[in-house]
Amino acid sequence: MSTSFSRRGFLGVAGGAVAAAGLLDLPGRAAVAATGGGPAVAPFPLRGVTLLESRFRDNMARTCSYLTFVDPDRLLHTFRLNVGLSSAVQPCGGWEAPNVQLRGHSTGHLLSALAQAHANTGDDAYAAKARYIVGELAKCQAAAPGAGYTTGYLSAFEEKVFDQLEAGGRPWAPYYTLHKIMAGLLDQYQLSGNRQALDVLLGMAAWADARTSKLTSEQMQSLLGVEFGGMNDVLAALYLQTRDPAHLRTARRFDQEAVFGPLADRQDQLAGLHANTQIPKIVGAVREYEATGDPRYLDIAAFFWETVVRHHTYAIGGNSNAEMFCPPDQIVSQLGENTCENCNSYNMLKLSRLLFFHRPSPAYMDYYEWTLYNQLLGEQDPDSAHGFCTYYTGLWPGTQRQVKGGLGADPGSYSSDYTNFSCDHGTGMETHTKFADSIYFQTGHTLYVNLFIPSEVTWAERGIHVRQETRYPQEDTTRLTVRGDARFTMKIRIPGWTRHPRVRINGHEAGRARPGTYVTIERRWRDGDTVEVTLPMALTWRKAPDNPNVQAVSYGPVVLAGGYGGQTLKTIPAIEPRSVRAAEDSLRFTATADGTDVTLMPFSEIQHQRYTVYWATPPDRSRPRLIARYSFGEGTGTTAADATRMWPAATLAGGATWTGDGAVALDGKDGHVALPPGLISGLDALTIAAWVRPEELANSARVFDLGFHKMTYLFLAVRTGTGKARFAMKIAGMDGEDFIDAAGPIPAGTWSHVAVTIADGKGVLYVDGAESGRNDALVMSPLLLGATTQNYLGRSQNPTHPYLHGQVDDFRVYNHALTAADVAALHAQGRNA
Ligand SMILES: [Zn+2]
Repeated sequence: MSTSFSRRGFLGVAGGAVAAAGLLDLPGRAAVAATGGGPAVAPFPLRGVTLLESRFRDNMARTCSYLTFVDPDRLLHTFRLNVGLSSAVQPCGGWEAPNVQLRGHSTGHLLSALAQAHANTGDDAYAAKARYIVGELAKCQAAAPGAGYTTGYLSAFEEKVFDQLEAGGRPWAPYYTLHKIMAGLLDQYQLSGNRQALDVLLGMAAWADARTSKLTSEQMQSLLGVEFGGMNDVLAALYLQTRDPAHLRTARRFDQEAVFGPLADRQDQLAGLHANTQIPKIVGAVREYEATGDPRYLDIAAFFWETVVRHHTYAIGGNSNAEMFCPPDQIVSQLGENTCENCNSYNMLKLSRLLFFHRPSPAYMDYYEWTLYNQLLGEQDPDSAHGFCTYYTGLWPGTQRQVKGGLGADPGSYSSDYTNFSCDHGTGMETHTKFADSIYFQTGHTLYVNLFIPSEVTWAERGIHVRQETRYPQEDTTRLTVRGDARFTMKIRIPGWTRHPRVRINGHEAGRARPGTYVTIERRWRDGDTVEVTLPMALTWRKAPDNPNVQAVSYGPVVLAGGYGGQTLKTIPAIEPRSVRAAEDSLRFTATADGTDVTLMPFSEIQHQRYTVYWATPPDRSRPRLIARYSFGEGTGTTAADATRMWPAATLAGGATWTGDGAVALDGKDGHVALPPGLISGLDALTIAAWVRPEELANSARVFDLGFHKMTYLFLAVRTGTGKARFAMKIAGMDGEDFIDAAGPIPAGTWSHVAVTIADGKGVLYVDGAESGRNDALVMSPLLLGATTQNYLGRSQNPTHPYLHGQVDDFRVYNHALTAADVAALHAQGRNA
């Protein structure tokens, strides 16, 4: 067999993409040639791939049962009322309620999901339901002029919302909703052959063209500041279908330069942007590349993908905290119950797949698999017959996916039949009806095997069937059986996380495959040939980029989470990494965390109980010592050296000046000292000490404040609203903060020595060498703060707080808690010791 096995295949993938060693290793930019508009790789028709028994098929079955159940008239209700047609059904709730501006978007998602379910299963019932909906939407569109709307307008809300938008108002995302409807119609045409859906869509496209062609480019760019979904995506895709230049012209009006420009310049300016507002327009950029061949579009999309995956992605593959992109590499400092909106990952998978078609690097499909298994598979409630999904996948320890019911999109709560429609109910319907669309891809002569999901693919052009049988990830081996005779190339993804993978053809070793590549097998295949791929799995710890002492653990492709039942967690549990042991059940492990036993299991299997994905891991301990000291003796220049020589110089910034007697004066306006980042990283015990002389007391003015932003910090304030000085620390996601109040404020007009010691859950605040306050029940350890990026004297993380007006001197950090006697001695040495 080795003669028929291509050695070349083991040397790398086509185009020579670099070997990827892990999840977040990225494709070489120059390594894989772009394809000049036309995709290099294509999917199989959904009908050509059959899901076999697996969790994926079970999830799809639940969603399909909802598609069968849901009453189309209830999802047409507001469309009909909007054009004066009668409708007496009970209105829907959530974002489909008659008074919510997003009404109508779920009808679009439903059309897409019905198209996928029909295309994949061949069951005409899904197509028939969609034919009814499309027919009724056509009637609504036809009635639009009679209701005073422009020809072609089809929506569940009034057209005047677009007048408001064009006048500079900020209505709730009207083009976002139209995009969903248009995408649903296009899917109906392309996947289900519904000709009327194309007619309705052409009417909507003409309406969008007429509406936007009247605007100046300045007006148009301004309007794009309001979320518009993937209008450029659906219109460019429509152009690829019709080749009507009006459709491409309209698509390109939705190119938002404020977002595309920095990405084209390879700049990450995503912080603070609403994440799911951006991702669909980047998907659209790939479509526009296909439509125009302009490589700028593809470069924008590829850079966006790299940036999001490398710098804005949590351990499970999702992004965003409270729906926003955070500053790059902020992960632990941005944990919360509302991380990882599921729509974002639905769209990132779309983007990964499209990018792969043009630059077939395995990194895209490694990310695809990771996020599919670790976020999207688990967004659905396996106990719900209708496949309800959550809105977010929260990563704050102790979050749970749960049924809360009620209106609106409660964080962490599952959707329902009618009462809480949301974007994630919609993308959930789509995600769970298209698992078959990325298991296999093809070129004219190559079959790509991307995902290890039990399934069968029919390659009609080659007269070939391939059946994939596996219990992956419960087991590490996948078996592919070829039916039919033909010469073709099979490329099988070898994930970047595996080590020493093995490939056997008809039972014979076929040599070594490299992780992070597609192994290539060229041969004349005979009926009954088998390929066995073994992808050994091991426990792998991954450090968070902003805190090396907080880690997530995975086994093969699955992230493991601790199951905590109904137990709430105050903060990130501390695990003993060496205590992790495999249990008897596959993919179950036990470990010791916070001194008690905890069960680890694949995160996507954790439902209806509290969990954690992130763990605090023990620090490297070194001998107790002073690790940083800024004594501010320079008296000139704008930098101050660290006397331990372990840290870079601090910087006097804003209105910070030397006093003439070896201290720094701060003006209370913008003067502060910027200390180096990472100063307290890795410390689970510490002492921070300084001399301070406030000239006046302003509430919240800081002696020191080390953190990332106003939700993740460790500070000492000269006074708060309680009238006392306060030490406090917190990471985002915690309820409240750990704090220690002093007996009173730090006195104004005189020098005081201040010190805080923390160890073993106890903290003491000293003023002038004597204990002034303590907290023996600290919830968090400073270890959870990690490599803080904004470390200040005299300035708060919170930009609304006043700067310190006064003087500071001799700032010290120790890697242990000084004793009371140590602190008293330090005070007794005096300020200029
Ligand atoms: Zn969403």
